[in-house]
Amino acid sequence: MDATTATATQTFIGQEARFGARNYQPVPVVVARARDCLIWDVEGREYIDMMSAYSAVSHGHLHPRLVAAVQRQLQQVAVTSRAYHGTTLGPFLEKLCTVAGFDRALPMNTGAEAVETAIKCARRWGHFVKGIADGEQQILVARGNFHGRTSTIIGFSTEADYRAGFGPFAPGFRHFDFGDMASVRAATTASTCAVLIEPIQGEAGVILPPDGFFRELRDWCTRNDILLIDDEVQAGLGRTGRWFAFEHEGIRPDALILGKALGGGVLPVSAFLADRAVMDVFNPGSHGSTFGGNALAAAVGLEALLVIEDEDLVARSAALGEHMLERLRGVMHAAAPLVRGVRGRGLWAGVDIDPAHASARELVERLAERGVLSKETHETVIRFAPPLTITRELIDRAVDTFQEVAMQKCRELALDATFVSAKTRIEAVVPA
Ligand SMILES: *Cc1c(COP(=O)(O)O)cnc(C)c1O
Repeated sequence: MDATTATATQTFIGQEARFGARNYQPVPVVVARARDCLIWDVEGREYIDMMSAYSAVSHGHLHPRLVAAVQRQLQQVAVTSRAYHGTTLGPFLEKLCTVAGFDRALPMNTGAEAVETAIKCARRWGHFVKGIADGEQQILVARGNFHGRTSTIIGFSTEADYRAGFGPFAPGFRHFDFGDMASVRAATTASTCAVLIEPIQGEAGVILPPDGFFRELRDWCTRNDILLIDDEVQAGLGRTGRWFAFEHEGIRPDALILGKALGGGVLPVSAFLADRAVMDVFNPGSHGSTFGGNALAAAVGLEALLVIEDEDLVARSAALGEHMLERLRGVMHAAAPLVRGVRGRGLWAGVDIDPAHASARELVERLAERGVLSKETHETVIRFAPPLTITRELIDRAVDTFQEVAMQKCRELALDATFVSAKTRIEAVVPA
């Protein structure tokens, strides 16, 4: 293919491949623009966004109120660093604390930085408040966790791809099995200062906890003077049909980590929240970030929270999520045994693909060819997590397309359920 005949898609993908590090393997779609739940590529093809940038675009692309908030703030001031006070940070923090029900919030930028903040807070609390010798503090983490990509965080990942060749890793973390209290008890020691956990394991494949697990975990942490730190970077802010996923479990964590949707789909904004008794282990000079809580980010974070509230996006996620899951279960029945499981909460679903028949990636690429953007996680799960602003009609269009793709694959594999059962019936009547 010479340069004169290359499509725009090939040109942009080629340029990224030539000059970019190879740490991603994107679906071969070149996005040129997006509005709300729709995306258009450089060839002018339209797609339904069923991924919403891993929840970062929960408000839909370029929500008019978020764009207006950015434009308003860009007439005033964008960045000063935390060397000075500002007019947007206070209102943002107050709203965030009110919505989440914590005394204090510490703003950062990316999710991983907010997780790092949580780790530092937990260790300091473990030393200053619980009395564990400094350097001995231990944090319990779940197998299959995803908390970001810093060298400390990947050090306690159980995913070989995230870790290989990146050692040495920071000590002070011990593993337990997600959803298994016996394993939490076995991992706990006198030096345990915190449990760091996702309420639903997103990257692991949208794994829901067993009923009652979080209540038992909450009790265990309370009885043993251990902080329960809830990483809702992906699950929080309406994704699961509640403001926060911990509400489904009937518990309140000691600290909460937010990110992704907090930036309203326009900026990285994250935060670590806790009550005074925990947060006040930070004193001036102990922690910070040049961009964390900048005036522009704070204006965006505040507007992101107000839009969720004003547009009732949490209730919308609950109702439409119910519908999306029901429709996906329909695909599972129509396209068994290729599609062998569906689970989720709110507008967040994981669909298991039987690896004996197809990879999740292959189906994701076929979906993209037909105008639906999703993303696989591991080889066997397709994740659907559209903006919370999506309509029932768009969900139906996306799921109809998924059903077509899945049934087409079944036909290619001669896995058509009716075909198989008809064949079995014929063989029963007419022995070979
Ligand atoms: C995405 C994610 C992170 C990391 O956020 P980044 O903004 O990519 O650093 C942390 N925890 C969870 C649960 C996530 O899903």
